[in-house]
Amino acid sequence: MRLLPAVAALAACTVLGADAADADRASGWVDAAALTGVAASANDWLTTGHDYADTRFSALTAIDAGNVSRLRLAWSYDLDTHRGQEATPVEVDGVLYTTSAWSKVYAFDARSGRLLWHFDPQVPGRVAVHACCDVVNRGVALWQGRVYVATLDGRLIALDARTGHPVWSVMTVDPKRPYTVTGAPLAVNGRIIIGNAGAEFGVRGYVSAYDAASGHLLWRFYTIPGDPARGFESALLERAASTWSGQWWKDGGGATVWNSFSYDPQLDLLYFGTGNVQPWGRKPSGEPADSLLSASIIAVHASSGEYAWHYQATPGDIWDYDSTQNLALASLEIGGRPRQVIMQASKNGFFYVLDRTNGQLISAQPFVPVTWAQGVDPKSGRPRVNPEARYDRTGKVWVGQPGAGGAHNWQPMSYSPLTALVYIPAQEMPFPFLADAGFKRTTLAPNMGIDQAATSLPPDPQVKAQALAGLKGYLLAWDPLAQRVRWRAEHPGPWNGGVLTTAGNLVFQGTAAGELVAYRASDGARLWSFATQTGVIAAPMTYAIAGRQYVTVMAGWGGVFPLVSGELAFKSGRLPNRSRVLSFALDGTAKLPDAPATSASAGHPAGAAGSEPTAPTVRVDPVAAAQGARVYARHCGYCHGDAAVSGGLTPDLRYTPALANPALFRAIVNDGALESQGMVAFRGELDAQSQDAVRAYLIQRAHQSASARPAPQAAR
Ligand code: CA
Repeated sequence: MRLLPAVAALAACTVLGADAADADRASGWVDAAALTGVAASANDWLTTGHDYADTRFSALTAIDAGNVSRLRLAWSYDLDTHRGQEATPVEVDGVLYTTSAWSKVYAFDARSGRLLWHFDPQVPGRVAVHACCDVVNRGVALWQGRVYVATLDGRLIALDARTGHPVWSVMTVDPKRPYTVTGAPLAVNGRIIIGNAGAEFGVRGYVSAYDAASGHLLWRFYTIPGDPARGFESALLERAASTWSGQWWKDGGGATVWNSFSYDPQLDLLYFGTGNVQPWGRKPSGEPADSLLSASIIAVHASSGEYAWHYQATPGDIWDYDSTQNLALASLEIGGRPRQVIMQASKNGFFYVLDRTNGQLISAQPFVPVTWAQGVDPKSGRPRVNPEARYDRTGKVWVGQPGAGGAHNWQPMSYSPLTALVYIPAQEMPFPFLADAGFKRTTLAPNMGIDQAATSLPPDPQVKAQALAGLKGYLLAWDPLAQRVRWRAEHPGPWNGGVLTTAGNLVFQGTAAGELVAYRASDGARLWSFATQTGVIAAPMTYAIAGRQYVTVMAGWGGVFPLVSGELAFKSGRLPNRSRVLSFALDGTAKLPDAPATSASAGHPAGAAGSEPTAPTVRVDPVAAAQGARVYARHCGYCHGDAAVSGGLTPDLRYTPALANPALFRAIVNDGALESQGMVAFRGELDAQSQDAVRAYLIQRAHQSASARPAPQAAR
């Protein structure tokens, strides 16, 4: 831990006398009484999920279904990154705190949008190569005058809420391992809770609690067992080890806790979900057993980190069905008595209602079409898996629905106690699973064990049309008691924004197609929309100052879908990333600058991909191109897009000037000339012949796409 002397002195003076304490209360003062609702102000938004129950429901009513048509932009702020914006801001005492891509932190006057301070943790660009799903960050935690952010490279940093100056910084992961952190921390009784990501790259998942005042590690809960030769940290992990096969510990195994937390103050239980195992289909290291505690919902005692219970939604997961979607707590009347429940719309397509005191399954039903399982056995709680979904056994391609993108991903759902409905950003993204017969682990690409070259989208227009037709996105109003849909609102495609509900009978959701939309919560009537000039994936939030209510959202297209899906991402939207904070109020008078026409050249910075094909008109050796296609799919596609079609976040390599300049291509790919933007040197992974083959493949793709239009794109 590093304590910064000047700031330590500053922090020290805030505890001198009552005046200083009062001053604290006007700058980010959030404590247990506020967070548990004892002294909560309905005007504020204190955690990324609004409350410990992660309902994302606000009791504010100044904006309602009757007047939302008067909602206008009140202020906006242009961010200096052009990657996915996934944070939900928090607000207290008139100050809005949020993060952008690359883990940068901002504090704004919540009324005017005036920037109060800005903190850039200077995340090294090279870390991007280990971020499976974009260089995103989902927000901060507030606790007693400090703002806590976890950075992409694994640090947890405490900032003075008044100044943004760092008070302490700790490294929460082994920096020699390919960990990343994208989730927001949660503050619980003086503890800052944080997880991590990186399953596909070879890490061991865990959750840590740090002392909010000092940054000292208080406890750590591992979600999978480590090397048996080194002994197990707990009896639970010893038991879990019997559900694994192969030598899972050698590459870390996964089961990372990469998203959000919920907390029940009465039970002192902290809830979180774990992700997938790496590689997805576990051959050749062994048949997938249950692999506890992957793809599970887990409860631990927040004060000690001791295990309370778990529910494994997808035992022996081979489909990337993380259980990391946000967990909403509620009291529901079931069988004539109130039950304290925890609810999740899982990536695997089932909506789970569990008793949160003991993890007992109450009900589980599909909220989208589901083909991997016929249902969930109510007694055992286990899914009834369809044999054809076991692509690791059949050796055949299996097009799964949900796919690896999930029926619901990190984009948060919201629960409204007024309508007793859950509002889910749902999607259908069928995905072709095919085990990679020649799978070898690597360090500079995700290890999924999937043959991405064989399942890459072919140029055949009929196949393309079929794949595009299967992609769907909609906002689902779901009744968790009846386990059935009440209404749904269609979007052009998947990967839309998280959800906010309010007591004004409103649901707010941004879309991939570039709108923020308000619906009537009770029946789904579309009441209002705003053109955001970019896709919105983050969830909106709301707060009120002096009776005036604001609705605020981070706009900025990105995340894993546009990063890896190539042409399929265009189904949802084709707007460039224009990263901004957008804040709305009734009769607001702010205006966005006119969006430049989305031409082929929009947003292309000098030195990145251009808009005109620059590939040399040379004859491509088909053998080299075929080899290059396999190398590209394994090593390059997860950032630059399937079949070398960029979704707009990273350079479209069909158009890079480096294709015509072998020395430049080598400087970038072999030597890492663009490392500051995340493009590290691949010389340790790919020999010169493989690099040449990739270049041949890209030239071939450029020739095939000579008439295509690249997605508009910007840098870092
Ligand atoms: Ca995953």
